[in-house]
Amino acid sequence: MTGIVAEDVAVTLGGVRILDGISIRVEPGEWLSLIGPNGAGKSTLLRALGGAVRHEGAIALGSEAPGELSHREIARRVAIVPQRPTVPVGLTVTDYVLLGRTPYISYLGTEATSDLSVVAELLERLDLTGFAGRDLTALSGGEFQRAVLARALAQGAPIMLLDEPTSALDVGHAQQVLELIDGLRREHGLTIVTAMHDLTTVAQYADRLLLLADGKAVAAGSPREVLTAELITRHYGANVRIVEIADGGMVVVPVRVTEPLARP
Ligand code: ADP
Ligand code: MG
Repeated sequence: MTGIVAEDVAVTLGGVRILDGISIRVEPGEWLSLIGPNGAGKSTLLRALGGAVRHEGAIALGSEAPGELSHREIARRVAIVPQRPTVPVGLTVTDYVLLGRTPYISYLGTEATSDLSVVAELLERLDLTGFAGRDLTALSGGEFQRAVLARALAQGAPIMLLDEPTSALDVGHAQQVLELIDGLRREHGLTIVTAMHDLTTVAQYADRLLLLADGKAVAAGSPREVLTAELITRHYGANVRIVEIADGGMVVVPVRVTEPLARP
């Protein structure tokens, strides 16, 4: 089982300090979600955790730092679903998802039957079987997002970093995808870090939240501790009400105000 430990992580891009002093510990099998307004640094932190951006401070995936691992070794430990994936030209959905199996295919070998069956099962679970032979560029936004997720899941990595994985999905597919991720987490002890905007949904799935603002961690804890009207107003400049629902859950509802809100 593999967790994540990050200590005092900082990222500077184009001479600007984008992240500063971020320390997190994600236990194996835990689901941490990053929240925070646009530009807070959520995507940058996910990229740093996945070894995709240069950083200061220490990051360990299980017992190793991503900097000490080869690309192939990183791909066996961490699967990343980026916010804006690059789209390879001329690939079918099956070929694209099969790319997720690359860390398991020998350099000279071709894909084994087991790789193809992993891909077929994931397409089935993500409602994509009917699109298996379709060119990747001919999918709707939501279909493409599910294909990107299928590719990441095909990696079979113990850590998944998911950047707004449901932003293009309708409510049914969003729920299906989050249940699939949570099911795999329970079944295989996957460690999950997401960045998500839907605060009601975040409260339903994540064990813990880290609220980022301006590149810094400004609150951390259980959804109930972090999703307070006061913190949301202060950091998002939004007017919300937190509504308790009968089964013990909570809903974050934006509420319209007549007076304009002063943004922080
Ligand atoms: P979030 O995912 O929380 O919306 P990001 O991590 O994408 O935020 O970005 C954090 C900040 O860093 C933003 O202000 C963004 O404009 C800036 N940023 C991201 N990439 C670069 C870059 N390559 N050079 C300069 N600034 C960047
Ligand atoms: Mg982002």
